[in-house]
Amino acid sequence: MIKHINLKSKTRIELIDITEMVQEVIKEAGVIKGICCLYVPHTTAGITINEGADPSVQRDIINALNRLIPHEMNYSHREGNADAHIKSTLVGTSANLIIDEGKLLLGTWQSIFFCEFDGPRHRRVAIKFI
Ligand code: ZN
Repeated sequence: MIKHINLKSKTRIELIDITEMVQEVIKEAGVIKGICCLYVPHTTAGITINEGADPSVQRDIINALNRLIPHEMNYSHREGNADAHIKSTLVGTSANLIIDEGKLLLGTWQSIFFCEFDGPRHRRVAIKFI
């Protein structure tokens, strides 16, 4: 069975902490041990695991990605969101996590972030347990 988390991003580029939402889905599904596969079915968004304690890390990640891949450049893709496609490819669209004793095995400072690169939009994250 595949579960979904529904999101609504508020700005063009942002990281949304979904750790608690994923943990809630695990709890509802009653999974005690296993693998949690998270998948983002979008071409201009991604998923990453990084520091959740200090929000300045999120801002630095966004700023660094914007410096590497500017919004405006001489891109072939004329939809105006070529940078978002490239950022999605760099960050990736899936993450696999270990579930132990009903909880995500994450480091003390780690959080799971949905990465919006072409918002605001309605988005989904698919979750499959193995
Ligand atoms: Zn596009």
